[in-house]
Amino acid sequence: MPLNIPALLVPIQLSLFPRIIIPALVVHGMPTYLVIHFVILTASRTVDFHALRRAGYRGAVFDKDNCLTLPHKDTLVPELQESWKSCKEAFGEGNVLIVSNSAGTHLDAGGIQAESVSHHLGVPVLSHKAMKPAYSCIAAIRDYFSSLSAPIQDNELIVVGDRVFTDLVLANRMRMQSQRRRTKSSFLPSTRDAPTDSTEEKKEADPTPQGPLSIWTKGVWERESMLMRSMEYGLISVMEGLTAPPKGEFVNVGAFVKPIPLRKDAKPTGLTAFFRFMYKREI
Ligand SMILES: [Mg+2]
Repeated sequence: MPLNIPALLVPIQLSLFPRIIIPALVVHGMPTYLVIHFVILTASRTVDFHALRRAGYRGAVFDKDNCLTLPHKDTLVPELQESWKSCKEAFGEGNVLIVSNSAGTHLDAGGIQAESVSHHLGVPVLSHKAMKPAYSCIAAIRDYFSSLSAPIQDNELIVVGDRVFTDLVLANRMRMQSQRRRTKSSFLPSTRDAPTDSTEEKKEADPTPQGPLSIWTKGVWERESMLMRSMEYGLISVMEGLTAPPKGEFVNVGAFVKPIPLRKDAKPTGLTAFFRFMYKREI
């Protein structure tokens, strides 16, 4: 595995901003985790992309490995077909961007893997020099979304990924930066931003989202770096226990999830099968 210097430097920032690793939303998308979902009922949920779009989010950044595809593979995990289709419908294909630390980086000679992933998943893959969560990678993401015919701002983005020190930190860094910029610009006198009747109407029609919204897909499609992942999970629990969310931080994320639909023909396994056998009833 190549050395990811930007991720290795995260603990320095973490000591100053402990909530840099805290996701706004946690989802489980893995059918093999359904047994756990029966026990932890609140966890049996998936992202509702149309609800996010209705709330004003217009673009999405996705990690690739162990989020959309198996590690180092180019095709979508079959279980995600429906969800991926719904995501592309909600945001529009050009507004969904894959940012990977494998495809599209210097490790991907000639951008061949990026081409292949883009072909299979039907959305662009960002070509970037620095690994996530580097600030220069964030700048490349911003360049992409601002180059669109209808440019997308940071606060209109969601960022979805499975790794804490790369995906979540990238999303939270982006949000902190853009909040700082907004605060600075709000102190500057400007007639350009003075509200007019039409902007007020637009605001009502299209609510202002508070992104980038960091979404953590807890769980893996293929076991990889499990020791490191356990440490990351532990660290998030500790930091969540030690810190309180700042005022106004993603207050209603519950509206952006929906239950994972269970297939009627699915046979129960593991603990579910055990409890069904024990109590002879539907659970
Ligand atoms: Mg990943």
